[in-house]
Amino acid sequence: MKIKKHNIPAIVDPSQICRALVGLKGIEILFYRRQGSFAEIAIQQTIGELFCKSCGSRAYVKDRPWVSYVDLPFGGTPTRVLWKKHRMICRNNDCETKTWTLGDHRISAVGCFLTTRAAKWATKQVGGGRSIREVAAELECDWKVINKAVLIYGEALLSADRKRLKTTTALGLDETLFLRTGKYKTKSWCTTVSDVGNNQLIDILPTREFVEVASWINTQPEHFRENLVYGALDMSPTYAAVYSVVLPKVIQVVDRFHLMRLANLALDTIRRRVQQEQLTPFGLNGRLLAVLVVADEHAPELQQRIGKRLDVDRTTMVALIDSLQAAGFVERRNEPNDRRGRLVHVSSKGRRAISEGLEASARVESSFLTPRSTRRSKTVIVATCISIFIYYDNAHLKVNQCAKS
Ligand SMILES: [Zn+2]
Repeated sequence: MKIKKHNIPAIVDPSQICRALVGLKGIEILFYRRQGSFAEIAIQQTIGELFCKSCGSRAYVKDRPWVSYVDLPFGGTPTRVLWKKHRMICRNNDCETKTWTLGDHRISAVGCFLTTRAAKWATKQVGGGRSIREVAAELECDWKVINKAVLIYGEALLSADRKRLKTTTALGLDETLFLRTGKYKTKSWCTTVSDVGNNQLIDILPTREFVEVASWINTQPEHFRENLVYGALDMSPTYAAVYSVVLPKVIQVVDRFHLMRLANLALDTIRRRVQQEQLTPFGLNGRLLAVLVVADEHAPELQQRIGKRLDVDRTTMVALIDSLQAAGFVERRNEPNDRRGRLVHVSSKGRRAISEGLEASARVESSFLTPRSTRRSKTVIVATCISIFIYYDNAHLKVNQCAKS
């Protein structure tokens, strides 16, 4: 019986509800009932003569277990599909297959406790940004059930969706810190596989190991691998090795971000080395100069307090002050009120060293930081080259693209 109200067709007969809900050939509705706040639809498959898939002998029904599946709510009522299953048995003693349970993917996927339509809906919801907990609350079931369903359907969608993989010509591999686990917060890494040209995420692998990443590429369809021209990577030697071994024809490209990071590190190393060279004539280095400056600012200052200001431990501090004293830049004197305290006095030679050292240091800084200075751009080029050479050494990288940018 159908009632038309506000042009929305409403079905009120329970058996019609069942048929509208299930409506699949070979599926029989056993009953529909209200059980507490839940609606339950009981179904079974209509079966004819069945045969064992392994040996072809006649199969018999062993037993009929009930399995409950979470379905989409009907009219606001949380609904379960109770499936009276057929567990079959092969009575051929020589056959390895003993028992199996009949399934129907139209009702539910193997291993999934959501009906197919509920699982598709849940996957869409989670894919659209809703949390698993939220979707679970809506279907009034455990979040684990939703999680499992989303994993099953998400994976199926991913492998069915080959269209987007056809046009990938530039593959990207990048490692990402996924989570920290256990007592020692052990880092767990994953590999992001992306289509760099189309800005699309292809997959996330729960590993950054050579074997797993390589085997992922190996299991992709041949046309996908054939289409690849470029392989983008962070500067990880593992990914470089993956490309070299599994996709030897692709041109390996280091992305700009990682190259620049390496160049900056190299630049900083050079800056420190130049600074060191500039300070050596005055009998100083960067650390000694820092200690001297702090000692002079608060002179006379307790040795341990200088250490605290610079966040340097006691033993190192003693060694640093020893060096400064040997050079005649400072002098240790006893603290009158504290038997164990040592005050650090900066000598006039020490003050001269400070001003000369700071001047030299400032010259280095400004030559590195002045925009568009010839020296800086030359240094950047040198630093970039050094970083590329370092990397080349590790991974035999082809850098034709990076050099341009
Ligand atoms: Zn058999």
